[in-house]
Amino acid sequence: MPTLPAALLKQLTAAPGFDEPAFVAVHAAAQPPVSVRLHPKKSTDEIAAHLPITAPVLWAKHGRYLSERPVFSLDPLWHAGAYYVQEASSMAIELAWQHVPQLLPIKVLDLCAAPGGKSTHLLSLMKPEDVLVTNEVISSRVNILLENITRWGNANVLVTNNDPKDFGQLDGLFDVLLIDAPCSGSGLFRRDPEAIQEWSEDNVALCWQRQQRIIADAWNALSPGGIFIYTTCSFSPDEDETVVDWVHQQFDVESLAVAIPESSGIVTSLSEATQHPCYRFYPNLVKGEGFFMAVFRKKSAAEAATLSGAKQKAYRTIKVAQPPSDIARWVKEEADVQWYMHKEVWYAMPTNTFDTFAQLQNILKVRKAGVCVGEMMHQQLQPDHALAMSDCINGNIRRIELSLTEALKFLRKEAIDVEAEKGWHLVCFQQVPLGWIKHLGNRCNNYYPKEWRLRM
Ligand code: SAM
Repeated sequence: MPTLPAALLKQLTAAPGFDEPAFVAVHAAAQPPVSVRLHPKKSTDEIAAHLPITAPVLWAKHGRYLSERPVFSLDPLWHAGAYYVQEASSMAIELAWQHVPQLLPIKVLDLCAAPGGKSTHLLSLMKPEDVLVTNEVISSRVNILLENITRWGNANVLVTNNDPKDFGQLDGLFDVLLIDAPCSGSGLFRRDPEAIQEWSEDNVALCWQRQQRIIADAWNALSPGGIFIYTTCSFSPDEDETVVDWVHQQFDVESLAVAIPESSGIVTSLSEATQHPCYRFYPNLVKGEGFFMAVFRKKSAAEAATLSGAKQKAYRTIKVAQPPSDIARWVKEEADVQWYMHKEVWYAMPTNTFDTFAQLQNILKVRKAGVCVGEMMHQQLQPDHALAMSDCINGNIRRIELSLTEALKFLRKEAIDVEAEKGWHLVCFQQVPLGWIKHLGNRCNNYYPKEWRLRM
């Protein structure tokens, strides 16, 4: 492990809870803990027993530490979205959820979302009638976000590829705004020691300016009364508490404190100018990596117009399509979904998600809306992989349970040899769906997406 930057240690001297010798020692000696977040519906106790779980993560209901790092890509359950491999401190956004109104359906924006760790977590916290818009500005990072969101399987989600300022046009559309800001990354030095060499004070300065710009650009999209969660994986106060004070200067906000679990090691730090309670995660105190979180309530929207300066565009609605019964039967009957057809492809999504999609599709680059059910080929539906992963699939669809060897062959997109009736089957491992095969009588075609193929 290279030596930690002296300038970073100096920046931290006055930071609450900072203990330089212990901080340096934990970077020199300790391996980062391994943790996963279980899918609340796909992961049963039996499935969890399959992982080397040692302890729960104190601040996340479905977070678990593991005793070692398995080769996740050789576990079909990881491919099936039964769990997400996520550093434990990042799961602390669950602590902010205590401030989110639970009764009415809400809309949540995760502005800086790839690869999707916090978005999949938000989806597990949200109700089916809530809507998540998960956005990534960098086009090359959208695919990994799409893949992780598809695996997680929720239908109440839109994936977009926009600059934060595009959201400024959406006056007060969201009840919750999460900005997990791009940052100088000092919190991840243990996981990525090469980043130590790349760290510089100049980069910290670039980062806090960019963080302010991102917040200002998207601010108008948060409704008055809405909750703003700001997180970074940087220890630098300039990117953390100073940005928090800047938010107070710029906007009409209220500080929100969160209840910290006892013995978690999370340090509460009050920002200098406004005494806003902020939460610092030091790896020598917390079982996780470096992380920072602050939570706000937006009080009024007075500053909105001057911030984005963007004109509100007229919303154009899209048409609901009614599928014939041989298409509708792929989705569970009790699911409250609206259907939509685009270029021979059928999509299904809950009503609130559909309405949000209708509002946004002219304004944002929507890369995924709800669940892609399948494409019409020769007047029959070819089911999509997203349907296999999704929580709205009809439970009556024929299933075939695979052994570990067969499941890995399936994930490598190799031919698998199973006895079954002709037609489409959902192949599963430990009863969790992995994808589609079509039995042709004498052989099976494997419909695992080729771009996701396991290459090991
Ligand atoms: N929230 C993600 C998760 O939990 O998996 C991690 C997000 S990472 C800390 C920050 C993200 O911000 C990256 O995906 C990065 O591509 C994106 N980003 C970089 N520059 C940005 C900008 N100017 N505006 C918005 N997002 C940006």
